Amino acid sequence: MSNIAIAIDGPSGAGKSTLARMVARHFGFIYVDTGALYRTVGLYALRRGADTKDAAAVGALLPEISVEMRYDGEGVQRMYLNGEDVSELIRTPEVSMAASNVSALPAVRAFLLDTQRDMAKKYSVVMDGRDIGTVVLPEAKVKIFLTASSRERARRRWLELREKGVETDFDEVLRDMELRDKNDSQRDIAPLKPAGDAVTLDTTEHDLQGSFELIRALIEERM
Ligand code: C5P
Repeated sequence: MSNIAIAIDGPSGAGKSTLARMVARHFGFIYVDTGALYRTVGLYALRRGADTKDAAAVGALLPEISVEMRYDGEGVQRMYLNGEDVSELIRTPEVSMAASNVSALPAVRAFLLDTQRDMAKKYSVVMDGRDIGTVVLPEAKVKIFLTASSRERARRRWLELREKGVETDFDEVLRDMELRDKNDSQRDIAPLKPAGDAVTLDTTEHDLQGSFELIRALIEERM
């Protein structure tokens, strides 16, 4: 049987990664978190002191970067930057913003495209991101666009950060999120938008299990 691809796109905090992980586990697929790739490039640019919005500065760094996705014994994705495990380091608010900035640069998107497509060639995947259904895997069997109100998404992100011991101000998280949403939806290249054939699911009022059941039913119907 050929590989199956499920694309889950949407703004941050809509529940993409949690739901994608649940769906991947249920169907025995590999979960690919593509935001982690942009975060890794963002981290490198920050470390090198580059302006993360500067196409020439960031572009000049790309030949120095090796970004690798590996999976640990539990099937959890780990990110490697030039051989160093940066899986935790890429989760700070500072790196989130750097990722959003570098992701608007065409050279960065081109640099990361094959890594994403290769995963879908090798395995059945549940891939989450911003442009999976529109650009990376336009042939995906099922495309979901997950969304929720910005306050609810900020609340979830704030709780997640707090659980990881990162103390942040709620209003700051909300502001950062709205700025990232704006960057991601208004950029010229691969903007965040639902694919024409995507099913939109608003999770503001749905709990995780309810959203999961909807997605599971959709996939079963298409398979
Ligand atoms: O999903 P996550 O919040 O980890 O993504 C970090 C940033 O990477 C996003 O704000 C977005 O700008 C960018 N991104 C993207 N395309 C993807 C995944 C993430 O542009 N497929």
